Amino acid sequence: MSVCTYRRLTLAAAAVLLATASGGAVTAHASGAPQESTSTIGTSVRGRPITVMHRTGPGATRRVVVIGDIHGDEQAGLRVVRQLQRGAQPADLDLWLIRTVNPDGTAANRRTNAHGVDLNRNFPYRWRDVGRGTRLWSGPRAASEPETRSLQRLVRRIRPDLIVTFHQPLFGVGANEKGMPVVRALAAGMGLPVKTFHCSGVCNGSFTSWVNSRTSSLAVTVEFGPTVSASRISRAAAAIRRVGAAL
Ligand SMILES: [Zn+2]
Repeated sequence: MSVCTYRRLTLAAAAVLLATASGGAVTAHASGAPQESTSTIGTSVRGRPITVMHRTGPGATRRVVVIGDIHGDEQAGLRVVRQLQRGAQPADLDLWLIRTVNPDGTAANRRTNAHGVDLNRNFPYRWRDVGRGTRLWSGPRAASEPETRSLQRLVRRIRPDLIVTFHQPLFGVGANEKGMPVVRALAAGMGLPVKTFHCSGVCNGSFTSWVNSRTSSLAVTVEFGPTVSASRISRAAAAIRRVGAAL
């Protein structure tokens, strides 16, 4: 904690110096209004863009990715992303906001992508061909889907410290040996219990298990309940800003 505080103080001091040298042009960024840019990280089966909004300030180092949904019929997380797309954020937060990894499924309010694949069973970690013909189909092979590969490319390129991915309706934050302090902090901030999720059986090919096993990043699953109040959405956005900046 003391290291983080010191870093922030140093950053603030540097921002003041920079502002003085440049006639004050960067003070707005240093005080929490981030710079924004939006880019496309891939396209869906039906050709819809998968976009990411990058919001960051000068020198921000805590890199956090937020994914509104990967299952297209679990859309409460989109509201969290919408909140995070607006307003001030901690100066040290380097935030990457993906509204949906599954734009075709989201447009159709359907769990799977347009090939009928459950993208959260399609990642190349303990992948197995299971559930063909059901809404839990893992796909014909690991990483067979363009949406899966788009997300893999982004994670490998920017190497986030933390990835938060939203689901419904299991109501909890997924326990995760790689980062229990972060899990507990997010759960407390969001008013959700810490739970162990079993993915309807064995957890094959899930996004968070791929990230946590195959990359240096920490991925955390957040499951809202079936309906989500506006205050819980706001709490979730605030928790991501606060926990992300304190990583
Ligand atoms: Zn889900």
